[in-house]
Amino acid sequence: MTFRENANIGSGAVRRGGGGGGGLAVGGGIGTILLALVVMLFGGDPGAILGGGGGQAPSSAQNVELEECQTGADANEDVDCRMKATMVSLVDYWEQVAPEADTTEAIIFTGQVNTGCGTASSQVGPFYCPVDRTIYLDTGFFSQLEGQLGADGGNFSQMYVLAHEYGHHIQNWTGALRASQQDQQGPESGAVRVELQADCFAGAWAGNATRTRDADGNLLLEPLSREDIESALSAAAAVGDDSIQERMQGQVTPHTWTHGSSEQRMGWFMRGYESGDPNQCDVLNAGSVDDYDA
Ligand SMILES: [Zn+2]
Repeated sequence: MTFRENANIGSGAVRRGGGGGGGLAVGGGIGTILLALVVMLFGGDPGAILGGGGGQAPSSAQNVELEECQTGADANEDVDCRMKATMVSLVDYWEQVAPEADTTEAIIFTGQVNTGCGTASSQVGPFYCPVDRTIYLDTGFFSQLEGQLGADGGNFSQMYVLAHEYGHHIQNWTGALRASQQDQQGPESGAVRVELQADCFAGAWAGNATRTRDADGNLLLEPLSREDIESALSAAAAVGDDSIQERMQGQVTPHTWTHGSSEQRMGWFMRGYESGDPNQCDVLNAGSVDDYDA
């Protein structure tokens, strides 16, 4: 997906942070943050899992605006700018669809970062912290997606990852994130449904993204291509439970994975994309997590 060269992305809610000292970050892949999220939902201390710094909000002094990212051309060139531009689109979309919900912001970090959910290292992958209502991502995850997980690392798959995390922010507002705490284990669990709904929300945004506008009222994005969609779906496939377990066997504990199968993730993304309607994303009340075609 390509940004229009002259699009104004100056208002994008992305900062660069990190370098947070103190706690010892514990790795272990995406499962670590899923576990942390589950613990948070249960009212535990996520800092205990992520290692130090639990409950501390990120220090704004450490976070810098991405001043160098001002136009769509910058977004097409540089991954940080692409995240900033994607936030402009996501904020515009969700302000229209859910005007009562607060917007969120994303912090891009390298190494480790202090968050409201504890100190996180790059190894946890992108995540949303409901405590400080902020998205965190190390864009190095994208090269991991490309290399380690086999996705094509396309621009749109990067945007999809951010849109998925924004979906968790919307769920924090709707209460869906809380709903998952009653039911965290198993293929039909609330936790899996929350993940699949975030994919569906990402799809609903994608279906409308070319209609989103910058601060000047100009369209942000060129139309999506078939390659864009395939890129996003390959990312969804690469981060599905079955795929991760297959490729990282021995390093993860399968029961901590709560994102659903690759096929389910694609199914719900496409349901959101084709309908362009987040109301079609009621995975939580679906008879089954396989009912994306219903
Ligand atoms: Zn998620």
